[in-house]
Amino acid sequence: MHASLKGIALVTGAAQGIGQAIVLRLADDGFDVALNDVPQKGQALDSLAEEVRAKGRQVVVVPGDVSQEEDVKRIVQETTEKLGGLRVMVANAGTFRMGSLTETSLEDFEQLFAVNARGTFLCYKYAAQYMVAQGRGGRILGASSVVGRRGGMEYAAYSGTKFAIRGLTQSAALELGRHGITVNCYAPGPIDTDMLRFLRKGRADKATERGIVTPAAPFNAVGSDGKAEDIASIVSYLASDEAHFITGQTIGVDGGMVLS
Ligand code: NAD
Repeated sequence: MHASLKGIALVTGAAQGIGQAIVLRLADDGFDVALNDVPQKGQALDSLAEEVRAKGRQVVVVPGDVSQEEDVKRIVQETTEKLGGLRVMVANAGTFRMGSLTETSLEDFEQLFAVNARGTFLCYKYAAQYMVAQGRGGRILGASSVVGRRGGMEYAAYSGTKFAIRGLTQSAALELGRHGITVNCYAPGPIDTDMLRFLRKGRADKATERGIVTPAAPFNAVGSDGKAEDIASIVSYLASDEAHFITGQTIGVDGGMVLS
């Protein structure tokens, strides 16, 4: 990392799963870290903060709902004030609901778009505003999905939110490149977290309801699910100075998944 730049990262949805693994990896890489999740996850954030401190890094807990503009403004502001800048924004927070097109209520559709698409837009926007004004470049990262590249059965609304993140990422990359800011997203396949367990249970319940055999886990080339650390490692690279020539990309981390 450039000597004049303090390594400061903000990670949303940090209380568990992929976000938590990203926090620990970035702390190992030498970053001071701001931890965001919804206020109800305060306890998990506090214990993660202890782990980060034990690694010798500075940490700040900035709870808030990424779908709310005032929250995101405050989260970015508190991070920059308390840690002294912002080098990396990881807009990781996301929510999932299964449902076919005809079964998905407008309320569910709007909730998914509010957190996943609007939340990512707000995090990108306020991080970019700060980074441009700071004048020292930066790294912005989002969480797309394997279903952000190609639609999936029973994922109509969720898949739409993850396509939206790719569009935001490509467009923001074009605008911010001249400022030394790269914008990329990761597109996980099945990663062993609470979200995946919830998804698999939903799929099994649906299969039972319809009287069909529970479908097998999705096929990929590697033949197993990934781990949160597999995502954290690509984030670690994309957040590094070395990755300055990679922007506007959606990087699949999916074990070579084949969607039917
Ligand atoms: P997870 O459900 O285990 O964790 C998500 C975290 O985001 C939770 O701690 C949750 O409280 C937080 N969150 C939800 N809404 C929020 C809001 N409005 N404001 C702030 N925080 C909020 O999920 P995960 O598996 O760790 O997924 C992380 C990201 O990766 C998500 O965007 C998800 O859509 C994406 N993803 C995951 C998988 C997978 O298989 N696990 C696959 C593809 C994409």
